[in-house]
Amino acid sequence: MRAWAVVENGAPLQQIDLPTPEPKGTEVLIEVTHCGVCHSDLHIWEGYYDLGGGKKMSLKDRGVMLPLAMGHEIVGRVAKLGPEATGVKPGDVRIVFPWVGCGTCAACRAEEDNMCLTPRSLGVYQNGGYGTHVIAPHPRHLVDPGTLDPAVAATYACSGITVYSAIRKLMPIAADEPIVVIGAGGLGLNALAVLRALNHRSIIVVDISEEKRRAALDAGATKAVDGSGPDVAKRIMEAAGGPVLGIVDLVNGTATARFAFGALRKGGKLVQVGLFGGELSLPLPLMAIRALTVQGSYVGNPKELRELVKLAQEGTLPPLPVATVPQSQANEALMRLRNGKVTGRLVLRAEAA
Ligand SMILES: [Zn+2]
Ligand SMILES: [Zn+2]
Repeated sequence: MRAWAVVENGAPLQQIDLPTPEPKGTEVLIEVTHCGVCHSDLHIWEGYYDLGGGKKMSLKDRGVMLPLAMGHEIVGRVAKLGPEATGVKPGDVRIVFPWVGCGTCAACRAEEDNMCLTPRSLGVYQNGGYGTHVIAPHPRHLVDPGTLDPAVAATYACSGITVYSAIRKLMPIAADEPIVVIGAGGLGLNALAVLRALNHRSIIVVDISEEKRRAALDAGATKAVDGSGPDVAKRIMEAAGGPVLGIVDLVNGTATARFAFGALRKGGKLVQVGLFGGELSLPLPLMAIRALTVQGSYVGNPKELRELVKLAQEGTLPPLPVATVPQSQANEALMRLRNGKVTGRLVLRAEAA
């Protein structure tokens, strides 16, 4: 197999040849046809997360080994089944749930694999979709996209379930009660699509880019607020007609967390999703007096992936804009994302797909 791998943190991806893995036990070998390029790939490529105050969390210390084929938004064809794998056959097209764990703990057995304490996520702790082949540990990690565009379906494995799971944590909120989405990149447009599919009618998007705000309004946002400069919380509350009940922060940096927290109403909840980095100091009496919730949300689970794919198959989830790029241009795609030149999602496409 061939991979476009991180060989050195921060250096261009390199094309390398590896032995094609042989599926063991319940494993399924997948021939990758599509793989989304996710913003979190940039952090894996750089090798750390910024924790604020000059502190960094090294991914190497957390068990990320190089060389690594990144890529966790994978769609492909079943190529070969391990001796204990059932339920799929060679040639079947499947979305691969990448946030896999040990497979045996209570969280994994409850299909909350993303809450496993020993994560083995594809494209993070083991090779992912920036390659010609990938191993799925179990057929239950495979979801049939049906007639969905595979390039769009690939994005449901990360950006899709990430926003779906975050929005589920905010609900129930009445359809006309404003929900604020911070960040209008790939995740933001996905969040808009999911909220609309769930029949939510009042969605305020915040972004510093005028182009991305316009894309969000075109995609059905009720209002768009400029997230740059001072007084962003005030502008959000003006747009919402007062402090807001639910905010999803898809950027989650020091500046966005601060204005998001400042715009919450009594009983409000801020769900933090992005991995931009930084820190937030909370006024503790306000947390209590206003009964506020700040909750983190990390990707999603296989149940949520199946629910989201079902929503898409019912036709209520508008497909987000994707652009495909040949797999061999993985490095160029990653650099385009790094330079902030991407509206919607870039998806690597195998030459044969
Ligand atoms: Zn991702
Ligand atoms: Zn586990």
